[in-house]
Amino acid sequence: YFGKNTWVYLDGEFVKADSTVIDLFGQSLHYGYSAIEGIRAYNTHNGTRLFRAEQHYDRLRHSCKQTGIAFPWETDLLVDKTYQLLEKNNLRSAYVRPLVTTGHNMYLTPASDSSIVITAWEWGPFLGTDLIRTTLSPFERPNPKSVPVDAKISGHYVASIMATTEATKRGFDEAILLDSNGYVAQASSNNLFIEKDTVLYTPSLGHIFPGITRQTVLEIAKIFNIEVMEKQISTEELKAADSAFLTGTATGIVGIAGVDDTTFPEEWGDTLGATMQRAYKNLTLEKENYEVII
Ligand code: PMP
Repeated sequence: YFGKNTWVYLDGEFVKADSTVIDLFGQSLHYGYSAIEGIRAYNTHNGTRLFRAEQHYDRLRHSCKQTGIAFPWETDLLVDKTYQLLEKNNLRSAYVRPLVTTGHNMYLTPASDSSIVITAWEWGPFLGTDLIRTTLSPFERPNPKSVPVDAKISGHYVASIMATTEATKRGFDEAILLDSNGYVAQASSNNLFIEKDTVLYTPSLGHIFPGITRQTVLEIAKIFNIEVMEKQISTEELKAADSAFLTGTATGIVGIAGVDDTTFPEEWGDTLGATMQRAYKNLTLEKENYEVII
C-alpha cells in the first residue's frame, strides 16, 4: 500500500513518491529529528472527511515548536492540500501521514529550514478488530525530563518498536509501557483506558502522549454521562480492571482481552469500551447527532 507511484504533497507541490529524494546528510535521517502526524480520512455519507485534521496539524506545529523544528505552514493550507492529495490518489478513506524533516547538516543545532511531505494510503485498523492480548513491557515510556513526550517526534518511535517487538516475540499482540515512576502509561502507540465498577480511568497527562482519540473518548464520555477519571494507574489496578481498551487514530478503539496472565472478566460487548467503540465509529463516520462534538 505504500505505492511508489502514489502522489505525495511536498513543499507546495504534488509529486510522485518515486521522484522524491532523501537528504543523505540530514539530521532527520541520522538523528530521528523529524516530526510526524497520523490522521484518518473516513468515507462518510457527507463524502470523504478528515477527522479533526486541524487539531492534528496544530499538534504537528506543537511537536515542531517543542523541538525547534521550523514550521512555516498554515493549518488551513495543509488541510486543504490533504483533501486535494486524497482526491489525486482516488482515496475515499485513508491514513494520512505528514512528515516534517529538517537539518541539512551533521551538527546538533536546529536548522532554520524544514520540509513537509504528506503521504496517504488505505489502511485497515492498525491492531485489527479482535480483542488483543497485551503484556507489561520491560521497556519504559521515554522520560519527559529527557524528551518532550507530548511531541510526535520520529526518534521516539525506536522505544515503541522495541516494546512491540519484544511483546510480539513473547506471543502478545501489544506492549503496555510503564512510566519512569512505575505507573501504567500507555501502549506503544496507543493510549489506554480501563473500566472498573462502571467508571473509566485513564493515565493522566505528563508521561503519556496526549492522543486526540483519547481526548475524543473523554468528550464522548461527558456527553454520555460516563464518569472518567484521569489519574496515575498502578499495575495492580490495571490487572484488577473489569475491562480495558486502547485508543489511537490508526487503531480506532480496540478492546483488550487481558494483560499477561490476567484476563479481564467483563464480556467485551457489555463494556464501556464497546459503547465508546460504537460512538467513535458513528462520530468519525458523521452519523446523525454526532456533529455536536466534532
Ligand atoms: N501514543 C503514541 C505514542 C502515538 O504515537 C499515538 C498515535 N499518534 C497515540 C498515543 C494516539 O494518539 P492519537 O489518538 O492522537 O492518534
